[in-house]
Amino acid sequence: MQSLLVATHNRHKTSEIASLLGGLFSVTDLNAHPHLPATEETGVTFLENATLKALGAARVFQGWVLADDSGLEVDALGGAPGVYSARYAGPQASDSDNRARLLEELRGSGAIEWSARFRCTLVLAQEGRVVASFDGTVEGKIIPEERGTGGFGYDSLFVPEQHSATFGELPGAVKNGLSHRGRALAKMLEFVAR
Ligand code: IMP
Repeated sequence: MQSLLVATHNRHKTSEIASLLGGLFSVTDLNAHPHLPATEETGVTFLENATLKALGAARVFQGWVLADDSGLEVDALGGAPGVYSARYAGPQASDSDNRARLLEELRGSGAIEWSARFRCTLVLAQEGRVVASFDGTVEGKIIPEERGTGGFGYDSLFVPEQHSATFGELPGAVKNGLSHRGRALAKMLEFVAR
């Protein structure tokens, strides 16, 4: 089985990716490779940041590298937090700090409609070069109170369209089947099967 390094320290991302790619690749992440350089996310798009992360690792790591840059866009906030989703409440913010800031901003906005989407861009790289990139999106809405303890990030506040449960309440396999990350990974699986 070929090895694939996910260029992240976020174990939640790695486990979602491994559950969809685990049959094809032996998946590890940066937690297992502490010698690899950490990449600063200086881009202003998901693609720029995913490319920076993928190339940062692929210049050193022998094998496939996959980087995920993702985030939440809320219409009433002009698309924020977007690429700044992980740092919405500050550079050292926890997921819970970020969710609290999101609700605070939304309550302050006076908007009634809290429509939103998650976006994910994956960049696949090898031998220091980008091989391909894949995008996935899931539409939904933000709810005013957290529900569910599954997943990570904004999952307990996000209800995907055509569902009534949040990503935090839905079983992991259901989230993976319809999430932004799951959709981008499905495109990657089609690409590697060609
Ligand atoms: P990144 O590490 O810069 O890609 O930041 C991604 C951030 O977006 C995470 O820290 C979460 O705040 C948010 N995010 C991305 N994907 C998800 C998801 O599947 N569920 C909940 N939050 C997510």
